[in-house]
Amino acid sequence: MDKRNQAVEGADMKTTEFLSLTWFGIKTILFRMNKPILGTIILTDYCNLSCKHCSVNNINRKMYPYKDIRREMESFYKQGIRILFFCGGETFLWKDGGRDVRDLVSEAKQMGFYLVNVVTNGTEDISIPLADVIFLSIDGTKETHNLIRGDTYDRIMENLGRAGGYNVCLYMAVNNLNYREVEEVGALARQHPNITSISFNFHTPYEGTRHLALSMEQKEETVDRIKRMIKGGIPVFNLYSALDVYLENSWKRPCCQCIVSEGGIRYTCGRCVESEGLCRECGYLFAAEFSLLFGGNIRIIYEMLRTYLRYV
Ligand code: SF4
Ligand code: SF4
Repeated sequence: MDKRNQAVEGADMKTTEFLSLTWFGIKTILFRMNKPILGTIILTDYCNLSCKHCSVNNINRKMYPYKDIRREMESFYKQGIRILFFCGGETFLWKDGGRDVRDLVSEAKQMGFYLVNVVTNGTEDISIPLADVIFLSIDGTKETHNLIRGDTYDRIMENLGRAGGYNVCLYMAVNNLNYREVEEVGALARQHPNITSISFNFHTPYEGTRHLALSMEQKEETVDRIKRMIKGGIPVFNLYSALDVYLENSWKRPCCQCIVSEGGIRYTCGRCVESEGLCRECGYLFAAEFSLLFGGNIRIIYEMLRTYLRYV
């Protein structure tokens, strides 16, 4: 089945969930609600990599227990959250009592979450049949990716080669080392049979990583490149109209519709919310997109619906 047919079939299967999420969006906009709909659970901060831009790996060196994660999933669900992400560290390293992330995804689907997504660096076996989207990090051409993430590109490509039938979205963290290579990663997304789409985010300058931040000129150049890719038919997951608003930096944040949980502690929008002043320099395009979406921006609502139907 080709990528397009997969996407159409996926959309057909998710009509009820899709309508329910749309209704949530309408209520949020009309009644200015601050209820979250998207929750992320960090399973572990263990990671087998030490990427140049990372500020979260191997700090606490914790593998969070299954029972705590399960309790948080139930709590999220009761609260009305319907989109769930599992993250790390490296998500596929998480294990507890014979369980791994595949079991968590399966339980989350049984619980009733509409979308259950997994974020990974792709260095482990990424076969995970029930996940709706696997977000897989690729940070440039092989040479640049390996410069940023260590010698991992070939291993990731091998794992990706075995991931036929899954919905893989490439995830590129754009910084001043790789911003000229967004087209190359976009081309990979279009050409590789096991990749459905690509999502870009700009580097958020956490402490110790400011030297990787993009200047405003570099961001503008990159946004132009991404917009040209969207117009040229590259399967970009980001929303065209949100890119200019992102550059204006006038969008409301933190985004109250997203929460992140690590070790039982919850953060609105992201753990980065704790870093004084960092939100003003936020590089996460999804935060801008969600903020605009739930602020009632009609153009963004239209693009979000179209993107959801095409790639999820
Ligand atoms: S794979 Fe992710 S968690 Fe691990 S070092 Fe890289 S950015 Fe950090
Ligand atoms: S830096 Fe961005 S993603 Fe993090 S909390 Fe602030 S707005 Fe949210």
